[in-house]
Amino acid sequence: AERRARAASVIEELEGIFSTPIERLRLIADEMVEEMHRGLTSDSSASCLKMILSYVDKLPTGDEKGWFYALDLGGTNFRVIRVLLGGRESRVAKQEYEEVSIPPHLMVGGSIELFDFIATALANFVATEGEEFHLPEGRQRELGFTFSFPVKQTSISSGTLIKWTKGFSIEDTVGKDVVAELTKALERQGLDMKVTALVNDTIGTLAGGRYEDQGVVAAVILGTGTNAAYVEHAHAIPKWDGLLPSSGEMVINMEWGNFRSKDLPITDYDRALDFESLNPGEQIYEKMISGMYLGEVVRRVLLRIAQEASLFGEVVPPRLEIPFILRTPHMSAMHHDSSPDLRIVAAKLKEVLGIANAPLQTRKMVMAICDIVAKRGARISAAGIYGILKKLGRHTVQTEKQKTVIAMDGGLYEHYSIFSECLVDTLRELLGEEAASSVVIKLANDGSGVGAALLAASHSQYL
Ligand code: ADP
Ligand code: MG
Repeated sequence: AERRARAASVIEELEGIFSTPIERLRLIADEMVEEMHRGLTSDSSASCLKMILSYVDKLPTGDEKGWFYALDLGGTNFRVIRVLLGGRESRVAKQEYEEVSIPPHLMVGGSIELFDFIATALANFVATEGEEFHLPEGRQRELGFTFSFPVKQTSISSGTLIKWTKGFSIEDTVGKDVVAELTKALERQGLDMKVTALVNDTIGTLAGGRYEDQGVVAAVILGTGTNAAYVEHAHAIPKWDGLLPSSGEMVINMEWGNFRSKDLPITDYDRALDFESLNPGEQIYEKMISGMYLGEVVRRVLLRIAQEASLFGEVVPPRLEIPFILRTPHMSAMHHDSSPDLRIVAAKLKEVLGIANAPLQTRKMVMAICDIVAKRGARISAAGIYGILKKLGRHTVQTEKQKTVIAMDGGLYEHYSIFSECLVDTLRELLGEEAASSVVIKLANDGSGVGAALLAASHSQYL
């Protein structure tokens, strides 16, 4: 009984420090809007949001035709993609891809090694082109490169790496043009291919989403990391000093993972995680939301309770001290456990943390902690989306019944349904029923790869 009371008080305390009441979410959304404005002015160092100009001023129309390649590098896996675009009639007529996981040592090694690994995989994939693959006489293969790390874009097909995130740390790539690095690696492979578009996953998802649905105005990624992009009026971008694009629009890559605000419920667990991370002080919002970190936040909470309240008995389970051992998919499996005796929680505790025979009371507590951490992430993500809608003036009831569509991609949103349902509910709560009825979040699965191929097509050197 004493144990039970202690458990209850620990959960109560956690609920307090992780709490995200709706008024707080509104403040967070307002600060998101404010930072967006600040990031769009010329002195963008004044904001935690980089609000990067993507140089994408025209989104896919549906007329794109021909074979195109795309490469998607952004987390633990990368994908090589080949699509046949068939114009208005046939749309994406064919799509082939292969997924390759990146050996961890290459994520923290040398630049040349990483790009050589990528180019080799791409060369292997090109070697599998089928009978039907055909390029017009004398044409080079063209590729859209989805590179989902903060890049200072210098044109549609070039940009320098600002910093690595999501567990990558390769000193000698920072400050370099990643397209030039990739092109050199392709040449070393003897592969005749031209990179015609450099985008990140948010831009790719936005492009792919718009191709499918003209109502798409923004894209959000909730995967290993998190980020968002949206379509901005060119005249609302003070720092844009080029010609106004004929479309009057420009896609902005927010790099919202680096958002921070005094109203975010940042706990000691978050501070310690950040301090010990590869990029301390950076990507604070991402570290509270994304798939790379949610499980780690849970581990830190469990460890603390194990140490201070003997959650798992007198001895602190040694595996619980290993950073990142509890991954978000483990957390989500436990969180979705619907068996009365929480069998899956028990199995994961044993398999991942080496904790056997945890009593039901303890399993319930683990489940409650997953709930607290996941819902905080989902709710502050919803606040960010609400901020974008506010910036676009789409947060109120629209006079013409136009739909506002957010293209969503990422394994966290796709697979962690308690997280995604909470996000959708919270966004509805923020918008109110009536305005919410014209806003849709659409899962654009794998949209970023096709999107990059579409942008490679619309920025082809042969147009
Ligand atoms: P990336 O973000 O690396 O491009 P994905 O969009 O596929 O790749 O997202 C992968 C991430 O999604 C993983 O790092 C993991 O954190 C999260 N994820 C994958 N499966 C699940 C799951 N079943 N439950 C919760 N999170 C998951
Ligand atoms: Mg991805």
